[in-house]
Amino acid sequence: MFFTSVELKDESLQCSDVIFATPHHITARILENSVTKSKIPVLEEMGSKIDKLCTDIGRMEYRSLIGIHSFYRGDRVPKDFTFAVMVDQPLIQMVFNRNSELSSPIEEGVQWVTVPVSAADEYLKMEDEEILQQLDKVLLQLWPENADVERIDHLIVRTPKATFAPTPGSAELRPNASFLGNNIAIAGCWTKTDWPSTMEGAVRSGLNAAAHILEIEWDSDKPWQQWPLRPQRGDAKWPTW
Ligand SMILES: Cc1cc2nc3c(=O)[nH]c(=O)nc-3n(C[C@H](O)[C@H](O)[C@H](O)COP(=O)(O)OP(=O)(O)OC[C@H]3O[C@@H](n4cnc5c(N)ncnc54)[C@H](O)[C@@H]3O)c2cc1C
Repeated sequence: MFFTSVELKDESLQCSDVIFATPHHITARILENSVTKSKIPVLEEMGSKIDKLCTDIGRMEYRSLIGIHSFYRGDRVPKDFTFAVMVDQPLIQMVFNRNSELSSPIEEGVQWVTVPVSAADEYLKMEDEEILQQLDKVLLQLWPENADVERIDHLIVRTPKATFAPTPGSAELRPNASFLGNNIAIAGCWTKTDWPSTMEGAVRSGLNAAAHILEIEWDSDKPWQQWPLRPQRGDAKWPTW
């Protein structure tokens, strides 16, 4: 069976199998789209399945994330600091020195400090200035001696539908990779992985989708066949800080 699955700007890809690996709301939008249906005729035949999937997807919840990026001329946090987790800070939950992860700074003499804010729904409307004030307050408490290091730029990234929320009862809304039948698989951290919306869940979902397309049995609690060995502490490429 051949689908015309992907229309690119200048070409259309012919393939035998399709994996939808898009976020859940995008997957629903694509599946409900009449153009997609005309490109993948088999979707027309599974109308009720698609209706159920899209209804279930519509009942799922999301959580927001905010990424705070602050750039300094000089060291606002000590050079050898990597990251810290705050116990009593609802907004500034963690502080990362991104320079410690880079082989060279993004610009000579510039330090890049970030804060990922999880479950950030209530802060989405907060102005940049207020967010930065909260960051400054925490940095001042931790490293008052560096208070005069100048911030030269910032970027606040608000992602309202960042992660699928595995709320009580949501397990029954999550489809298996094989839900739509042969030659089509669904992947993404929101599918039935038994894991929350994480990178591990996303990897599992991809393997579930691959197993479905390859028609092999895979127990997701066991390693994938011929999976590369996990990096070990002490390996030549194991990064140290
Ligand atoms: C800011 C942030 C921080 C996070 N931190 C962590 C963390 O520390 N640890 C952790 O485990 N997880 C974390 N997560 C969650 C984790 O990143 C996700 O659970 C995981 O990446 C989901 O993978 P996925 O493949 O399901 O979806 P995604 O990685 O979202 O991939 C979906 C893909 O679909 C593409 N796409 C979207 N629309 C279309 C379209 N119309 N057509 C074609 N393609 C489209 C997107 O470009 C994207 O490449 C974080 C998420 C965010 C947003």
